[in-house]
Amino acid sequence: MINLILFGPPGSGKGTQAVKLAEHFNLLHISTGDLFRNEMKNETPLGLEAKSYISKGELVPDEVTIGMLSNKVDENIGKVDGFIFDGFPRTEPQAEALDKLLTLKNTEITKVLALDVPEEEIVGRILERAKTSGRADDADETIIRNRFNIYLNETAQVADHYKKVDKFVALDGVGTIESIFEALKAEIEK
Ligand code: AMP
Repeated sequence: MINLILFGPPGSGKGTQAVKLAEHFNLLHISTGDLFRNEMKNETPLGLEAKSYISKGELVPDEVTIGMLSNKVDENIGKVDGFIFDGFPRTEPQAEALDKLLTLKNTEITKVLALDVPEEEIVGRILERAKTSGRADDADETIIRNRFNIYLNETAQVADHYKKVDKFVALDGVGTIESIFEALKAEIEK
């Protein structure tokens, strides 16, 4: 199996690249943000709980997020050549839970690919995305900056978790979609 994590701040292009990589390598793209938005759309209890955090740009509690992610992996293991995780893990406990879950399935993370994009570029990109995404958390600059700060203060540490085991690779996330896709593919094929 190939199990990848696409890492980086909100708006760094993880979702766009994950879709392309999933197709190219026959992986299942799992975006916890998309899973939450689907639950919110269907107004499930999980969706209603998630909404109270997402609308402020805060992280949904680990136990909720980890439970949802585990179910998705359980449902699909054996059906695909691997997974591409987008927006997960975002905290150290999530990274530990993912390692455990994959070990139970006799597999592991292959590589973590991080997209580096500076804050001002992020804010501009997300405000642009807001015009079509319909996401309330994309439309407000204060919420966007909160999401970026949470990335710096809570999520960036997840990088160390994977640096320790030599699985972390950072790439420049500023460029064309195609050039970044080529750089990611080259890293995966190494
Ligand atoms: P995203 O689509 O990845 O930008 O996620 C949108 C929002 O969903 C985030 O700002 C969080 O509120 C929530 N979310 C997504 N993934 C996670 C996660 N792994 N842990 C906690 N909250 C998450």
